Amino acid sequence: MKITRFTSVLLLVCATAVITLFLISSKSALTDFPETPIKEWSVRWIQEDEPKQQTPSLTGSWQSRTIDNPQTAIPDGVVGVWVHIQIPPTTQWMSPGLMVDRFYGLNISVYEGNRLVYQSKRDFYVEQNHLLLPLSIKSDASDLFVRIESKRQAGPNSVIHIGEFSSLSNYSDRRELPDVLLGASIAFLGLIMLLCSGYLNRKQRSSWIALSLIALSTGILMGSYSAFPFISYPGIGKPLMLLFDLSMDVLFPTLYYFVIPIFEGDYVILKKVGFWLNGYFAFCFILTILYNLIGEPIFFYYQLFTLWIMAPMILLQLVLFIILSIINAFKGNKDSVILSTGIFLLALSGVTDLVLYFISKERHIFFYWKIGVVCMIATLIVLLASRISADYKRLLSYSKELELHNRQIQKAEKIKILSDLAASIAHEVRNPMQVTRGFLQLLSNKSDAESKVHFKMAINELDRASAIITDFLTFAKPELDTVVRIDLRQELSTIETIMCSMVAMHQGVLRVRVPENLHILGNPSKFKQAFINLIKNSIESLRDEGIIEIDAWAEANTVVIRIKDNGEGMCEDQIAKLGEPYFSTKTKGTGLGLMVTFRLIELMKGTLEFRSAIGKGTEAIVRFPLAEE
Ligand code: ADP
Ligand code: MG
Repeated sequence: MKITRFTSVLLLVCATAVITLFLISSKSALTDFPETPIKEWSVRWIQEDEPKQQTPSLTGSWQSRTIDNPQTAIPDGVVGVWVHIQIPPTTQWMSPGLMVDRFYGLNISVYEGNRLVYQSKRDFYVEQNHLLLPLSIKSDASDLFVRIESKRQAGPNSVIHIGEFSSLSNYSDRRELPDVLLGASIAFLGLIMLLCSGYLNRKQRSSWIALSLIALSTGILMGSYSAFPFISYPGIGKPLMLLFDLSMDVLFPTLYYFVIPIFEGDYVILKKVGFWLNGYFAFCFILTILYNLIGEPIFFYYQLFTLWIMAPMILLQLVLFIILSIINAFKGNKDSVILSTGIFLLALSGVTDLVLYFISKERHIFFYWKIGVVCMIATLIVLLASRISADYKRLLSYSKELELHNRQIQKAEKIKILSDLAASIAHEVRNPMQVTRGFLQLLSNKSDAESKVHFKMAINELDRASAIITDFLTFAKPELDTVVRIDLRQELSTIETIMCSMVAMHQGVLRVRVPENLHILGNPSKFKQAFINLIKNSIESLRDEGIIEIDAWAEANTVVIRIKDNGEGMCEDQIAKLGEPYFSTKTKGTGLGLMVTFRLIELMKGTLEFRSAIGKGTEAIVRFPLAEE
């Protein structure tokens, strides 16, 4: 299948869209508002037995943290952390606010000095949080304490912004929304695809369903990986979290199921691995549901299987995809190269994210995989489009062929009936004519001189009628009585002599230009009959100042004879009907001339084709095999 211009344009558009989307969402918004970034803060662990709701004093075991070294992981025996942030004077803003884009913690309380100013609680286990709160206007620097309760990680993981509250809130909406929209639309697409799977037959259905599930689960992952829904709709946090986990358990086995058969080659081991992989992910699926039902007691197992074991497995799987897609791209056809590219980009982006995550421990926020997903979907769309267009083209050519075939059958049937009829009539008529001729001759011998003339005329007319019938029989029972070498120059000039009076009657000119030494094999009288028919048609089509030109030349192993007139011409439909019995546009026409002509030329192993344009004229082109010396 060809990569058409359309598909490459589509690819380009997708790529540009993805890049702009991510550039807009990740970079530009940051420079939009005047803000004071705070890149340092200090923390103090909260021990299990410590009394609640008491702002700590600034003396004691505070550790300093910076944006380059946020260290959010919680040590054992600790339930959370106090974060102390030094706020600069805030008089330069109408209504100042504070925002931390990436912030870990389940339950958060914020104190300005000793006053509680903000509180948020989570009943679901998503530690990735976001902090956005208004501050009071103060002319001096002040202290802000944030009390965070969490399990694995707690504290800021990105720059703390102080600025105009409205622009900070605007910024955080703008940053999170594209992910949610993109995720929701991909998930929606997956859902629709899943619903459409009913239209497919069983063979196509399984891979289609796999593809729909891939789209659905990546869409959900994308949307729920964003902090936006958790912050804006904390009520659905728990079910959303469950959905996120379950999507993870669905995505990777289906991806494996979908991708492996695409790669050409018989990977028996990989298929077996796929079986175990399915089992493992199914187990995790059930475990996730159980954890959501039971809660704390099985948290350890939940985390062990769905995080510590699953993450390296996913990494291995993606690396496997990368290797396979590279191998495949080198040996496959264009289709699988496109697909391999998509899978390669997806796997590469996933691996990049995972590796960055492991290297930087906690700083890295998964990001590249989204680009990978969009690239993969783009390649799938390209494939789908090229397949649809190829199918459509095939359908079109089939229907054209069918139509042509039908026409030929119709034509052949008509000709068959006609030739049967002609043969029987000609036979029946010729016999009594021969008998009559014999008696006429007998009578003529016995009669006087004057009657003899009349008898002679009658016999001549009978002979003429018989000749016409014989001619007609050539169509019914076409046999070339004698085949000789025909000298085209000589034969066509004879025809010119016969026809020139008829041309003159129609106020036309006949020009014949035939070089010497052009020979074909055939029967001269049949040849004459065929060409006289063609020239007669040309003459009958002439209008004023008619010119008919006959040229002949040799082309490789064939001889081409062209009869060209500047008569009224024909349209496409008429040309298609030429040679059909009874097709005539003339009041006195029989519509048999060309039918016989086609037959005669075919018998001499030649071909006849017409080119014509209404009002301009017609070219009849006859080709015969060139006779050897
Ligand atoms: P007839 O001459 O009896 O009509 P033919 O089989 O010889 O039957 O031709 C069929 C039809 O093809 C003609 O009626 C005419 O419409 C068209 N035709 C054939 N040759 C020409 C030509 N040179 N120029 C215009 N029309 C032509
Ligand atoms: Mg004719």
